[in-house]
Amino acid sequence: MGKRNRKIIITIDGYSSCGKSTFAKAIATELKYIYIDSGAMYRAVTLFALRHGLVTGGVADEERILGAMPEISISFRPDLETGFPATYLNGEKVEREIRDREVSNNVSPVSTIAGVRARLVELQRAMGEGGGVVMDGRDIGTVVFPDAELKIFMTARPGVRAQRRYLELVSKGLPADREAVVKNITDRDRIDSSREASPLRRAGDAVILDNSDMTPEEQMVWFRELYQRRMNES
Ligand code: C5P
Repeated sequence: MGKRNRKIIITIDGYSSCGKSTFAKAIATELKYIYIDSGAMYRAVTLFALRHGLVTGGVADEERILGAMPEISISFRPDLETGFPATYLNGEKVEREIRDREVSNNVSPVSTIAGVRARLVELQRAMGEGGGVVMDGRDIGTVVFPDAELKIFMTARPGVRAQRRYLELVSKGLPADREAVVKNITDRDRIDSSREASPLRRAGDAVILDNSDMTPEEQMVWFRELYQRRMNES
C-alpha cells in the first residue's frame, strides 16, 4: 500500500459535549475508517453497575465493580440503521440505554477506577490494531494510542457545549433540562480532568480544535487540510 493510502489511527479527545463523536463519525465516513466510541464502553460498564446496584448517586463501589469486570462483555456490531457500530453489553444492544441520564450522572466516578480503565484500554488497543480507526474519548491520544499519527484535542465554550447537548437530548426524545445538562457537563469535566488514572489532558502532539463557532462542514474543511498535510509529511 502506498504511503499516502495507508490507514492510520486518528485520536480525538476533549471535553464533554464538544461534538467529538459527530466529528469522528464524519471523518470515519469520509475516509472509510471504523469509528470507535470509547465513551460508550465506560457507559456500558456503568449501565451494568447501575443494574446491579454497584454504583448509585455518583458513588461507585470500586471493589465490587472490579470483581464484576470478568462478567462484563462489551462489543460493537454494525448497525444498518445508523451505519455506525452499536454498543452491546453481554449480547444486548444498549446503544440507547447508555445515553440515559442515570448513566451520564454515574459514568465519571466509574471511569476513575484504574482496573476498569486497564481492561477497557486493552480492548480499545485490540480494536485499533490494524489502523483505519477513528477513536474518540478522553485518553486516546495520551494513553491508548500514544503513537497515533494524527491526534486532535477538541474544545468549545461551555455555553455552546451545554446548548448542543440539550438539543441532542431533545432530538432523541430524551428528558432534557438545561440546568441539569450544565451541571452534568461541568461535573464530568471536573472529575475527568482531576482523576489520578489517565486524566483528560491534551497530548503534547495533539492539534487543538475549538469548534465553538464552526459548522460541521467547516470542521471537515479544517480536518482535510490537516490530514493531507500529515499524510504528505510522514
Ligand atoms: O464520550 P462520553 O461523553 O460518552 O464519555 C462518557 C464518560 O466516559 C466521560 O465523561 C468519562 O468519564 C468517561 N471516558 C473516559 N475515557 C474515555 C472515554 C470516556 O474516562 N476514553
